[in-house]
Amino acid sequence: MKTLDTMNASPDCIFCKIVAGQIPSRKVHEDDEILAFHDINPWAPVHFLIIPKAHIVSMAHVGPEHQGLMGRMLTLAPQLALAQGAKPYPDGGFRILTNTGKEGGQEVHHLHFHVMGGPRPWLRG
Ligand code: AMP
Ligand code: ZN
Repeated sequence: MKTLDTMNASPDCIFCKIVAGQIPSRKVHEDDEILAFHDINPWAPVHFLIIPKAHIVSMAHVGPEHQGLMGRMLTLAPQLALAQGAKPYPDGGFRILTNTGKEGGQEVHHLHFHVMGGPRPWLRG
């Protein structure tokens, strides 16, 4: 059940603007709670982001009320990775990464899972 609070957008957040359609994105999935779109600066042949539509700042801000949402986000990752061209496990596969906080390398402060795949070598990571 979504509450008004968790659906609040943060006015200066670039990913909230993507959710609202105020900034364009190349979407790979959308449902009532979750959006996935291609990273604008990919590190790998397949590189997209899975975000909650609600403005959750980071993994450090996730609580018990988010268990269902976190499960749905992670469950989407393998099917979207394959749909975007990652080859199947075990020879293919993909990587899921979430940067958290300054020392965790987080630059956009709206929770997101990077999903990366495709042939190595990759530029980063
Ligand atoms: P992080 O360091 O984990 O916060 O990564 C933020 C990611 O968001 C980076 O990989 C950026 O390339 C990506 N990014 C920033 N702005 C956009 C945008 N407008 N559309 C798609 N991806 C973006
Ligand atoms: Zn946001």
